[in-house]
Amino acid sequence: MNNRIITTYGQNLWKMTIDVLRKAELEKMIPKGSYIGIKPNLVVAKPSSSGATTSPIIVSALIEYLKEYQHDNLVILESSWIGDSTNRAFKVCGYQDISKKYNVPLFDIKQDTYTMKTFNGMKMEVSDKVLSLDFIINVPVLKGHCQTLVTGALKNMKGCISDREKRNFHTRGLHRPIAYLNKIIKQDFVLVDGICGDLDFEEGGNPVQMNRIFCGTDPVLMDSYIASNMGYRPYDVNYIKIAEEIGVGSADIENADIIVLDKDESIAKPSPSRKVQRLSQYVNEKDACSACYANLIQALARLDDEGLLHQFKNNPIFIGQGYKAQECDGLGIGKCTSGVDKNIGGCPPSTPAILDFLKSI
Ligand code: SF4
Repeated sequence: MNNRIITTYGQNLWKMTIDVLRKAELEKMIPKGSYIGIKPNLVVAKPSSSGATTSPIIVSALIEYLKEYQHDNLVILESSWIGDSTNRAFKVCGYQDISKKYNVPLFDIKQDTYTMKTFNGMKMEVSDKVLSLDFIINVPVLKGHCQTLVTGALKNMKGCISDREKRNFHTRGLHRPIAYLNKIIKQDFVLVDGICGDLDFEEGGNPVQMNRIFCGTDPVLMDSYIASNMGYRPYDVNYIKIAEEIGVGSADIENADIIVLDKDESIAKPSPSRKVQRLSQYVNEKDACSACYANLIQALARLDDEGLLHQFKNNPIFIGQGYKAQECDGLGIGKCTSGVDKNIGGCPPSTPAILDFLKSI
């Protein structure tokens, strides 16, 4: 399924996870008897509602799915960021409970031994446990990052190296080592938690309700899709570009085969995040679907980055089912606002489409 991305929207995380895995037929990709590593993102000891870490519900559904097909030689591995304890993250994020319930061991990569690996002359210390795996399932979070703009499948592998190597990655500028690491460690399957990742920071704090889960096998394509969901072009993220150049995968999101299983019909709720609240001041919202609203918020965040948001102070933006059949002046987002003077259709319109539309005004 190299150029396929299977995505679904909603709020029932368990069902959404099972749906995308069934469609992908993950069980058929895994050789019998494989030692399977599940790599969530537990960068800090904060619950997934913070926008920083992978939901334990998604990982639980993944484990039950694998066990249904007798893929039961499993381990959950992680190394939280320098300064935080992985074991504390396992506890706070709900993974100790998963381990007990499903009898799946937790492995703290900080306590591992490492082997020096080299790609293109760059040396790095990689976890021996990770190197011993037969099949790696990466479960990153769709979220922003203050240095690399986004973080997803490629960067989540940074949890598979020693803390000493993590420091080296920063002194080498992050992008190139992240790309090279993905030549050394091949992830076999990517299941993205796009439920409520943070708008800007890998450690959370400004979660945005995005209500989506998607999966695929090409980590470069998955990260390109993550970037696009956040209003960036794939090559805006340097490590995506480098990873493509060295043959980790393809960033050709235009020609990806994107299969959408279900749309999100939940109505967007007010966000507790101060930044999201600030961005939403530019929006007139009435009964907008969560996914539609999230795409607009991501687009506004990109306009804010570029200093273009002020233009919309006197140019109201409308979104939501409550504007169906209403006619007014302003900017309409989505098919529900087709009666607004200037409108972009779609249900929901994507973040890049909204961004292009708002920039064209
Ligand atoms: S266009 Fe309307 S119905 Fe479609 S996702 Fe947006 S708010 Fe929901």
